[in-house]
Amino acid sequence: MAWAAEHATKHGGRAIALSLVLMGAGCRLPPPDEPEPSPRVTLPYAPRDPSPAFSGEAALDRVRALMLHPRTLGDAARERSIEALARMLADAGAQQVERQPFVAIEASTGRSYALVNLFGHLHPQAPRRVVLATHFDTRPWADQEPDPMLHEQPVPGANDGTSGVAVLLELLPLLAAALPPDVGVTVILFDGEELGRPGEGERGGYCAGSRHFAAEAARQPPAWLRGAEAGIVLDMVGDRDLHLPIEPGSAKHAPALVQRLWTVARRRGHAQFQDHERELAILDDHVLLTQAGVPSVLIIDHEYDAWHTRRDTIDRLSSESLFAVGDTVLHTVLELLTSPKP
Ligand SMILES: [Zn+2]
Repeated sequence: MAWAAEHATKHGGRAIALSLVLMGAGCRLPPPDEPEPSPRVTLPYAPRDPSPAFSGEAALDRVRALMLHPRTLGDAARERSIEALARMLADAGAQQVERQPFVAIEASTGRSYALVNLFGHLHPQAPRRVVLATHFDTRPWADQEPDPMLHEQPVPGANDGTSGVAVLLELLPLLAAALPPDVGVTVILFDGEELGRPGEGERGGYCAGSRHFAAEAARQPPAWLRGAEAGIVLDMVGDRDLHLPIEPGSAKHAPALVQRLWTVARRRGHAQFQDHERELAILDDHVLLTQAGVPSVLIIDHEYDAWHTRRDTIDRLSSESLFAVGDTVLHTVLELLTSPKP
């Protein structure tokens, strides 16, 4: 995995500046005065819901409901929470829900964790699909607190571990209503994204769930993976002060999808999506999903001031931010899956 070495980690690992080569023309957006493509998605069929609308308020309510289900790594109650998440995927419209249990080891202590990735398939047999993913685990260590006494305390994870799940659960029924049966969506809720300590970078246990998924996919790819054309990964998308610059690793490995997402966002008036690249690439689940053969983009706000602290609570989130992301992803997926296969 040579190219992964150029990824800095969002968890305070090595800060390796990316070569300017990564900021090539492939991911640059046209200047604002250039004519935009038609703002309407023309669907070649009659959907049951011709104008699906994502609700930021519903997504914020969903965050509130999810916060009642503890998902902290190591928490004894999380097994029940994972079952609740599986039910939520089915209730949201997934016709097939899969569990992928595995064991991950925390690098610094050798402690083992029983983890579970969840998959919710819409139109499981469809030959074409988009993957939407996020992590649902929340961090047991608030190591960005100024007070070292709090570093072993859990992070509430309203933004980091919950906002992405909420957006995807609110998107599923809209996609179920809008998409024809020959195209599908797979929602992946990855476990164990947080299983690493500051400074461990690639050597740590970060992205344990997507790492396990990629390793298993290399060994024996599931049938649905063959038709997966694109992946969109959400992480920390609820900050009321939302800033979404382009993540350089996404621009390098999935430039067309970056361009499509950010163009849709601008067309729909979501200024939270910024047309420049952030300086450093981020190690997150999109890296492993791309490695599994699905070119993937990470949508993340890494300027969140409550990141990995006990202040990552729902009062820092806003329905407007969740709407900007949900609306953009919805219309991007509709565009992708109603356009001819690339
Ligand atoms: Zn985190």
